[in-house]
Amino acid sequence: MTDGSAPLVSLETIERRYRSGDGGFALRVPRLSIGAGERVVVLGPSGSGKSTLLDLLAFLAAPEPGGRFVLRAGGAAHDIAAAWRRGRGVLPRLRARHIGYVLQTGGLLPYLTVRENALLAPRLLGMDASATLAALANTLGIAPLLARFPAQLSVGQRQRVAVARALAHRPALVLADEPTAALDAATAAAVADTLADASEAVGAALVVVTHDAGLAARIGGRVLSCRPDPRAACATLEEG
Ligand code: ADP
Ligand code: MG
Repeated sequence: MTDGSAPLVSLETIERRYRSGDGGFALRVPRLSIGAGERVVVLGPSGSGKSTLLDLLAFLAAPEPGGRFVLRAGGAAHDIAAAWRRGRGVLPRLRARHIGYVLQTGGLLPYLTVRENALLAPRLLGMDASATLAALANTLGIAPLLARFPAQLSVGQRQRVAVARALAHRPALVLADEPTAALDAATAAAVADTLADASEAVGAALVVVTHDAGLAARIGGRVLSCRPDPRAACATLEEG
């Protein structure tokens, strides 16, 4: 059972640590709560743990033992911290169903058309997403490009397709890692707007990480920061 007002994602005292000879790195998340459909931007300089945070939220990076990490989606509350302790079992399935991930540079499969790239995740889930894709393609302005291959697109068009691909299976949570870093200012603004609009259209919460305060303002929503402490080789996720 889930409470309709309970957050989509809740983390408490979650930490991700990399150990290496020079001291490694730790990202600390004292507390993070993301509501269904909420928009969150995480600001931080390079190396402050932004990609690490998204990998945690996508169940791609294991947290240290301890702490609390719950995803409420699909009518159930999933204890992610416990799933990691038990050895991942359910996590790939939860990721495939509920998460959409937009990478810095698209990550499209070159031998599939735009349509095939966008419909790959829904197909693996046994979903018919053609209507969702048609609506997304209009929002994103890529409807005329569906039969093309990635190599036949501009960088900005590729990034819009990457957004369509992350959203076509109607995930509850969309994660975007510096999604406009490879784009010029005008294209970046257009992609940021379409990312926000398209996430809203499928009812997904959106978490964008960036070092760019301009992009953060463009996306809007709640702002969090990854604050590095170089002496302690760690960073902490904080409000504001
Ligand atoms: P950002 O995305 O903000 O640039 P990252 O999350 O990529 O930061 O990295 C945060 C810190 O963790 C950096 O100091 C980086 O060198 C380190 N780091 C990232 N991935 C690994 C890894 N697989 N092994 C060891 N250290 C890593
Ligand atoms: Mg990064």
